[in-house]
Amino acid sequence: MSKEKPSYDAARIEPSRQAAWAERGDFEAPPPPEPGQTPVYVKASSPFTSGNLHMGHVRDYTIGDAYARFRRARGDAVLLGFGFDAFGLPAELAAIERQELPAEWVRQCGERMLDQMKRLGYSFDYDRVFYSSDEGQYRWTQWLFLTLLEMGMIYREDATVDWCDTCQTTLASIQVEDGTCWRCHNEVRLIRRPTWFLKITDYLEENDANTEKLQNWDELALATQRYILGRSDGLEVELEGDGGTLTVFSPHRGALVRASFVLLSPRHPDLDVWVTAADAHAELEQMRSGGWERSARDARAVPVVDTGSSLTGLDGSELPVLVSPLVDARFGPTAVLGIPAIDEADREIAARIERVEWVEPEGEEAADDDGGDVAPAAPVAAAREAKRYRANDFSISRQRAWGTPIPVIHCDACGAVPVPVSDLPVVLPRDLMPRAEGNPLAERPDFVDVECPSCGGTAKRETDTLDCHFDALFLWVPAAVPPADRAEQMFTHPDLREWLPAERLVAGGDSGSFVFDQRVVTKALRDHGEFAFMADGEPFAGCLFHEMVIADGRKMSKHLGNVVNPDELVERYGADTVRLAVLYAAGPAKTLNWSDGALRFANRFLRNLWTYSHDRFAVLDEIPHDPEAAADTEHMRDRLRKWCENGLERITADTAELQLHKSIRNITRLFERIQDFEKRVVKRRGQLDRADAEAQVAALVLLAQALAPFAPHAAEEILLACGRPDGVELATAWPEAAKIPVSAESAAPAS
Ligand SMILES: [Zn+2]
Ligand SMILES: [Zn+2]
Repeated sequence: MSKEKPSYDAARIEPSRQAAWAERGDFEAPPPPEPGQTPVYVKASSPFTSGNLHMGHVRDYTIGDAYARFRRARGDAVLLGFGFDAFGLPAELAAIERQELPAEWVRQCGERMLDQMKRLGYSFDYDRVFYSSDEGQYRWTQWLFLTLLEMGMIYREDATVDWCDTCQTTLASIQVEDGTCWRCHNEVRLIRRPTWFLKITDYLEENDANTEKLQNWDELALATQRYILGRSDGLEVELEGDGGTLTVFSPHRGALVRASFVLLSPRHPDLDVWVTAADAHAELEQMRSGGWERSARDARAVPVVDTGSSLTGLDGSELPVLVSPLVDARFGPTAVLGIPAIDEADREIAARIERVEWVEPEGEEAADDDGGDVAPAAPVAAAREAKRYRANDFSISRQRAWGTPIPVIHCDACGAVPVPVSDLPVVLPRDLMPRAEGNPLAERPDFVDVECPSCGGTAKRETDTLDCHFDALFLWVPAAVPPADRAEQMFTHPDLREWLPAERLVAGGDSGSFVFDQRVVTKALRDHGEFAFMADGEPFAGCLFHEMVIADGRKMSKHLGNVVNPDELVERYGADTVRLAVLYAAGPAKTLNWSDGALRFANRFLRNLWTYSHDRFAVLDEIPHDPEAAADTEHMRDRLRKWCENGLERITADTAELQLHKSIRNITRLFERIQDFEKRVVKRRGQLDRADAEAQVAALVLLAQALAPFAPHAAEEILLACGRPDGVELATAWPEAAKIPVSAESAAPAS
C-alpha cells in the first residue's frame, strides 16, 4: 500500500514549517552555553529601515542564516542576532515626503521587513530584534557619547558644512547635487560651524597590528581594513626652521635629501607656529571655508597655501613650508617632505608655487616611486623608521531632526556641559515632524530650554543630533543582551562574556568603515573597563564580507528597471529556491550577477529531490529481502557509503568556511550519486533488495540533513516523511555517514 505522495509545493510547506519553528522556539538564543558547548554569535548586517529587503539583504541574511543553522546542527549554542539602523537621513526624507512621523514610518518599515525575513525562513532570534531609534537603545548611544567624551575621544571643532540659504538648513553631502540644493535647486554655499568629532587616531596602530592576526577574516574584509587604515611606511626626521623644530615624514626612504619643500596638513597640531604671515592666515581661512574636505586628491586642483615660513633641508637648502589637504588624503594629518624629483604629486605642487625652486633634471626620467627600492642617495643619520595612517577623525554630528540627541547642554557661564548619565535618555520629542527647511529641533522650546546641570542657570540643549554612523558603533552589542536586561546592563551583562567577540560578522563589502570604527570603539571600551574581557579589543573573531547583487551586469536601480524583487521570487518559487539560488550563483567574494538560471536550477533540484525521496520512502516497506541478493550488492552499498562520507566531508568543510556555493554543488552531486547507485544495482540485479533500499533511504536522509541549513523548509518536510519517528531531530542535527547500513544482515525483514 502506497503512502500519500504530495508533490513539492513551497507555498504549502513553507508557512507550516515556519509556524512549527516559532512554536518550538528553535531560534531563541540559548541561555549561556552548557559546559563543552561552543557559543557562536552570528551577526548579520543592520539595515536601514527602508521598508523593503533588496537582493543584497537576501544574500547577506541567507549566508548568515545557513551558517547559523549549520552551527546549531553541529551542537553549538547559536545566537543569530539582528537589529535595525533606524535613525538617519533615509527615514527622515521618507517621513518628509509622506508627511508622517518618522517613528511611525520606521515602525511600519521594520514590521514589513521582519515579515519578509520570516517568509525567507531566517532563523533570527526575533525576540531580540531592536531599533537604534528606540529610547531604550539610544539611551546607550548617549551613554557611549558621554563615555568617549570623558575619555577625550570626542571633541568639538569648527568644520565646513554645506548650507542652503533658501531652505535655511545644512545639507548632507548626498543632498548636494552639482553644487545645488536637492530640494530648491539653488546654489549651496559652505559655512563653518561647530561640529563634534570622534577621535580614532589613538587606536590606529593597534587596529593595524591586529589586522595581521585576525584569523577567520576573509581577504575582502581584511583588504577593506587595510585600505581604510591607509598605512605608509617610511622615515621621519627633525628639521629646523624659523618656527622651531618640525618632524617631517617621507615614504621615499632614499630621497630625503632631495626634498624641495615641506607640506603641512591643515589639521597639523603645530599649524599656527608655521602660519604667521597675515596673508597666509587669510588664505588658509579661505581654503578652509572652501570646503577642502570634499576636495579631490588631484594635486593639480587641491588648494595649497604658502606660509612664507621655511625649514632647512638635509642638504642645507631652504625648504618653503606649504599647507595643503593633499597631505591628509595621502598620509593623514601630518607633515611630509615634498620631493618633486621622484614624486608625481609633489611635482604638480612644485609647479604651482613660485617659492619652490626645483628644476626638472635633464635627461633623468623623473620616476614616481613608493620608496624602498631606490638606492639611498645619501644615508641620513638622524632619520628613523616611521609610519603614517591616512585614517583620521571624522565628524559625528548632523543638523537633522531624526537622530540621537547629543547629550550636551550649552551654558553661557559653564560652556558645553555633559548631561549627567542619570538624566539619560535625552528624549527626542516623539511628535517632532521633520521638515525640509530649518532645524525643527532647534525650534522646540520644550526641548531646547533647560537648566544648566552645573550652575542651575538657564541654558540650551545641543540641537545637533548624532550621525547614524555613531549609533552603529555598538549595533553588534544589543542582540547579545536579553531585552529585559538592556535598560540596566547593555554593556555589563554577564552574557556578553559568552557571546562576545561575535564568532562571525556577515556583511556587505561596503561595511568596511563601520567595522573599522566598531573595532576602535571596542578597544576604547576595553580600556574603559566594560569590555576588559576582550583583551585584543576585537569585536569580531571572524568576518565574511560578500560582494553585491547586480542584474544584467549593472547595479540594480529603479531607473534602469532591473530591480529584482525578493517578494515576487518567493511568491513564485518559494523561499528555499530563492535561498539556494542566491547561495549557489556565486561565491561570497564575487559579485552576483542575478539571472533566472540559478533559480531554475535550484527549483528543479528541489522538485527532483522531493519527488525522488518521497517515492523511495513510500515503497520501502514493500521491498522484499533476499540474503543472497543482498550479499551480491554489498560492495555497492559500501561504495554508496563512501560517496556519502566524502561528499559530507566536503560539504562540512565548505560550510564551516562559508563557501556555501561549493556546499550546494556538492549536495547536488551527492544526489546524482544516490540515483546512480540505484541504476547500478538495477542493472546488476534487475531490482533493489531491501538492504539496498534501506541504504539508499539512509543516504537520502543524510542528504536532506545536509541540505537543511540551505533549504530548511523542504529538507525538514522530507525528513518528516522519511518514515522515521525522529524526523524533527534529524532536521536539526548534522548527519553522520557511518549510519548508512552496508551489511546484508542489517536489512529488516519485509513486512
Ligand atoms: Zn534649498
Ligand atoms: Zn552653567
